[in-house]
Amino acid sequence: MNAANAQGTGFPVSFEFFPPKTPEGADKLRVARRQLYALHPDFCSVTYGAGGSTQEGTFGTVREILSEGVGAASHFSCIGATRQSVREQLATLKAMGVKRLVALRGDLPSGYGAGGEFQYASDLVAFIRAETGRDFHIEVAAYPEVHPQAKSPEADLQAYVTKVRAGADSAITQYFYNGDAYFRFVEDALQLGADVPVVPGIMPISSSTQLMRFSDACGAEIPRWIRLRLQAFGDDTASIKAFGLDVVTDLCDQLRSAGVPALHFYTMNQSAATLEICRRLGI
Ligand code: FAD
Repeated sequence: MNAANAQGTGFPVSFEFFPPKTPEGADKLRVARRQLYALHPDFCSVTYGAGGSTQEGTFGTVREILSEGVGAASHFSCIGATRQSVREQLATLKAMGVKRLVALRGDLPSGYGAGGEFQYASDLVAFIRAETGRDFHIEVAAYPEVHPQAKSPEADLQAYVTKVRAGADSAITQYFYNGDAYFRFVEDALQLGADVPVVPGIMPISSSTQLMRFSDACGAEIPRWIRLRLQAFGDDTASIKAFGLDVVTDLCDQLRSAGVPALHFYTMNQSAATLEICRRLGI
């Protein structure tokens, strides 16, 4: 926890970014980060391999965040990786001063054979612990609305519990707009002995088409009433943004009132919506 939060002046928040692909994107992200740092995040995380990004892109952005005096978490996906390649990347991250990882299986681009020496994120978590002891705080992904490739909800919950038993310190969820799914997930995981903090992942709503596209791909459900309202706004982006701010602020408020440990925002490298939601929450 950073100094501001330790003094009790704010609710713990963290932010996710993706590595920008162009120099203009990198400049825009620097501006967004500077604005978001005003909220004293516990850490900022950087995705890995998502959307075709490279390891250099992730590590470069993580390096910049660290040099700005903010804690950085590097996402780390193991699909297609070998033990040796993971070992080398862990050594690089350690030398960079990274203390927190988001350990993931990751997704392969379609048409790409599986390969690699790790099958599931739990294998990666166990390997990181065995190789590096307590050097890293390990986050894992959690899916309150069930991972799209899971054999069943029970199997997915069990897969989550296996990641915790393998050594995860905490979890960040896929985004959701139905708080009950999160509360049920946390309760069920606790029953199975997985008692690490589960931080809700929050996706601000700024664009209707983007949200529909992402949600279809990652299995996050957009409740019917939200989908219909967004569709009815058509190209009226101002109304979509205003509606999105109301909906997501209410969700965060509900989660915070219920005692969630923190909120993790999927910023999409934008600051405006996250800043406004946090302003409304008094964070
Ligand atoms: P796992 O926990 O390994 O689960 C994958 C699937 O396998 C699930 O269906 C699970 O039920 C099943 N499973 C797990 N263990 C077993 C077992 N022992 N037996 C049978 N089935 C099992 N993707 C990226 O590419 N880059 C990122 O930076 C990135 N960041 C993310 C951050 C967060 C917070 C979240 C929630 C997701 C992120 N993703 C990212 C997406 C993620 O990589 C995909 O959802 C991926 O498909 C699953 O990764 P995982 O780590 O959850 O996998």
